[in-house]
Amino acid sequence: MNPPRTIDLRSDTVTRPTASMRRAMAEAEVGDDVYGEDPTVRRLEEAVAARLGTEAALFVPSGTMANQLAVGIHCRRADELIAEAGSHCIHYETGAVAALWGVQVCPVQGQQGLLTPAQVAPALRAPADWNPRSRLLWLENTHNRGGGTVWPAAQLGAVVAEGRRLGLAVHLDGARLFNAEAASGVRVAELARGVDTVSVCFSKGLGAPVGSALCGSRAHMAEARRLRKMLGGGMRQAGILAAAALHALEHHVERLADDHRNARLLAEGLAGIRGVEVDLARVQSNMVFATFPRDAEEVCRHLARAGVLAGPAGSGPNVVRFVLHLDIATADVHDVTQRISLVARELTA
Ligand SMILES: *Cc1c(COP(=O)(O)O)cnc(C)c1O
Repeated sequence: MNPPRTIDLRSDTVTRPTASMRRAMAEAEVGDDVYGEDPTVRRLEEAVAARLGTEAALFVPSGTMANQLAVGIHCRRADELIAEAGSHCIHYETGAVAALWGVQVCPVQGQQGLLTPAQVAPALRAPADWNPRSRLLWLENTHNRGGGTVWPAAQLGAVVAEGRRLGLAVHLDGARLFNAEAASGVRVAELARGVDTVSVCFSKGLGAPVGSALCGSRAHMAEARRLRKMLGGGMRQAGILAAAALHALEHHVERLADDHRNARLLAEGLAGIRGVEVDLARVQSNMVFATFPRDAEEVCRHLARAGVLAGPAGSGPNVVRFVLHLDIATADVHDVTQRISLVARELTA
């Protein structure tokens, strides 16, 4: 008998381009995008800007670069940005906020990654020679480390409005904003209303091999374009990659709801296993955070032996993160639940 196929739930970034996506990439019309001459990149940037309701958009190699360009255009050295304590820019961007821009972060502890409007003003610095200048409010939807948390649209709008009222620029890290749209039923343009810049990723749930976009005003995108070149992110015949992103926008947005259904199915399965705890109310998009009776790293090693790849969630010592995506079918979810059940039995024996 063949060993069981490994099912990879570490991240929604592990997807492989589909055959039709590869065809779109192979057939893409291209030019040199550093000269602004790649027609497919232009088409993508126009499509994304239209989708997000912004004047312009800029195609970049990664979500990290999109986010860092936002820091670069909004902040000067020694400025401060206000972000929820679990934000991606604090934990997973290699210290770039400090290293690239000389900016420091004022972390604010939220609830599963979400802030309330009342939490913004107390984080603001008064004008004084010894204080950094509060410059940028940073929000994340869905919130990764919070568990794939989906902002209620009204709460997000209220926090954005409060940031603006206080004179802050606002950036929305929307690496999974299309998941937020699928989960909340509120269009991405509506979720991004009022922010200065918003980033989105094509390489997460949307299943493209590479690529993200930063969206905002024409003036902000012109500045972002300069900084992208400075960081080495100016790409030449990038239409090959933009074609994958366009294909993802056309064909992989609607299906994100399938990932959310599969996440719920997995969560319900795991909640029924002795020794495994899942807070079903916190399963809101394509992620499941489950607490095991042992250290997450150790649990993941056991799971890997059973052909299930997952990673520590980072939100607690025993919490494991499972991420559903394009390459996981509902049948796989049943399979995974079975395998995890056997592992949990070993661990609790
Ligand atoms: C993945 C992710 C990013 C960007 O990651 P890259 O790997 O650089 O594309 C940014 N923000 C959040 C919330 C993410 O999950």
